[in-house]
Parts: sequence; C-alpha cells; structure tokens
Amino acid sequence: MRIGIPRSLLYYKYLPFWKTFLTGMGAEVETSPLTNKKILSRGVEVAENELCVPVKAFYGHCMALRDNGVDALFVPRVVSVEERAYTCPKFLGLPDMIGAVAGSLELPPLLTPRLNQREKPREFKLQLMDFAREQFGLRRLEALAALESARLAQRRYQEGLAGGRKPLDLLPASRFNTPRWRPPAEKRKRIGLLGHPYNIYDGYLTQNLIARLEEMGAELVLPEMTDHNVLMKAATDVPKQLYWTYEKEIMGAINLWTEKQMVDGVVYVLAFACGPDSLIQVLIEHRAKLHNIPLMSLTIDEHSGEAGLITRIEAFIDMLMRKKTAA
Ligand code: SF4
Repeated sequence: MRIGIPRSLLYYKYLPFWKTFLTGMGAEVETSPLTNKKILSRGVEVAENELCVPVKAFYGHCMALRDNGVDALFVPRVVSVEERAYTCPKFLGLPDMIGAVAGSLELPPLLTPRLNQREKPREFKLQLMDFAREQFGLRRLEALAALESARLAQRRYQEGLAGGRKPLDLLPASRFNTPRWRPPAEKRKRIGLLGHPYNIYDGYLTQNLIARLEEMGAELVLPEMTDHNVLMKAATDVPKQLYWTYEKEIMGAINLWTEKQMVDGVVYVLAFACGPDSLIQVLIEHRAKLHNIPLMSLTIDEHSGEAGLITRIEAFIDMLMRKKTAA
C-alpha cells in the first residue's frame, strides 16, 4: 500500500517517526512536494476561509498526494501528546475537516489513528498498536518492532536538531531555504526564530524567510535546538499554565532565550487567525520587553507578499546592528 504523508503541519515534527512506523508495517510512504503556489491556492479554494494558512496548505498537500495516486492519506488525530495538555483544536479536528471534503475531492481513504495521552502517557503506544492491528493486521510483536524502529528514527532526528541542524537539513528534499551567501561569522547577529515548525520551515508560506535572514546576517537560534523537556521546564515561568503543548514549547524557547541572553533579537512568525498564537503573542511580547530584547512579529497568511517582508526584516536587522554598535 502507498501511503501519502502531507508535507505540512506535524510533518515537520514527526516525519521520521511516522515514516519509519508505516514502512515498518510494510507500507510504502510518499510525501507531498514542497508547498508551492498550486498547492496553496488549491488548499485555499476548498478550505474554510477562517482557517489558518498552514491548515489551508494541508488541504492542498492532500490533493497533491491524490494526484500522485497514493492508496491512502495519513491524517492522524493528534489530541494530546502529554499529560494534562492538548494540541491545537485544528489537530483534533483535522481528520474531520479533510474527511468532509474527501468525497467531493475524490481523495483516497484516510488513515486516522487517534493519539491521546492526556489521561495516560503510555496510551500512545497502545493506540498505535491498535492501529497497526486494525489497519495492517500486525501481531503485537511485529507492531512493537515497528514502533521501536520509529522511536529510534525520531530520536536520531531530535539529536540532529539538538546538535544545531534544522529540520530542513534533515528531512527529505526540504532545502528550499538555501541562502545564496552569508556574511562572515563575526558580522552575524543571533536571531531567535520563533513559531510553529510548519510555519517557520515552510519556505513558501514564509517567503523563504530562513534564507533571507541568513543572507542578511542572522545566526539563527531555533526552538528545535533545545530539548523538549528543557523547553517545557522553561515554560513554567508564567502565572497560569498553558493548555497547549506546542505553544508551551514556544513560550519555553522565548523564556530561555531572554533569560540566558542567548539572542540579540527575536522574529516571531505567527499565522493569521491562529487562536493559540494570538494568546501567546501577548506573553511573548511582554517577555521580550521585560528583558529588553527587540522582537518583530510577522503574521503570515495566503496573501503575504515578498516585498513587505523583505523591507521589514531588513529594517529589523539594521536596527539590531546599530543597537549592537552603539552598545
Ligand atoms: S496552532 Fe495556530 S497555526 Fe497551528 S494549526 Fe492551530 S490555529 Fe493553525
């Protein structure tokens, strides 16, 4: 069976795990191409208007995989990835949203394992073993072997990230964000690039932001360079705990970067119409101000234009450079 994994949303977090797990069960895995104009416009056409741009892109990626003739689409329902926390409601509803248009778009069948660790952290394993049995007819030991290989692949990926590599360097055919040149190391500024991985690493949605920042002299510091548990611990530095795991990671990153003065400035990428982002944006801005770290928020949607983005990041980096010189 050829299973398509859309190159969007949690692809940037868990592709090594999903891919190894599915191939370990005997499937052939195909990922959709990098987001491009056609993928995004098709997604925008069929998705509800009020959705955030990465979810709109997800629809387009499903359609690209359909065109490539995959037998099934992998659209997990990721409810919770840790105890007493949830993911964004869009991840909970993703199989329903895609399922609602699957008939009219003639999408292949959806594989939608439900992953929920809110009550019990070990449920994840059992839920995936059930999925392996129901969808692939695997016995317990076979499913456990596939899960173990997947866990190791994900660990290698995370070690690579912790070692300073970007998802774009480690995931297959992802390097759209290549800088054409970079200023010498002594002239670079440490810029924290904050946001959800599916926003900051999708070169089409962000107008190739990573490469542009690197060309302008940014030495990027990314949330993925820090271990998840360290980010979670750093995120507790707020009066009320956040419900959403991925937003906690973002808060943990800004807390750590500002506390330890790890960055000269922060660029925060958020999606228009994103509920969780709009809530933590206030906390992030407050935190940066408190530690006197310049911060620029960039809101992206399907209409984001290249010219405006370049002017803004040029002005921001120029300001950082002058600030540094004056200091
Ligand atoms: S967290 Fe925001 S950007 Fe991410 S899927 Fe949810 S609404 Fe969209």
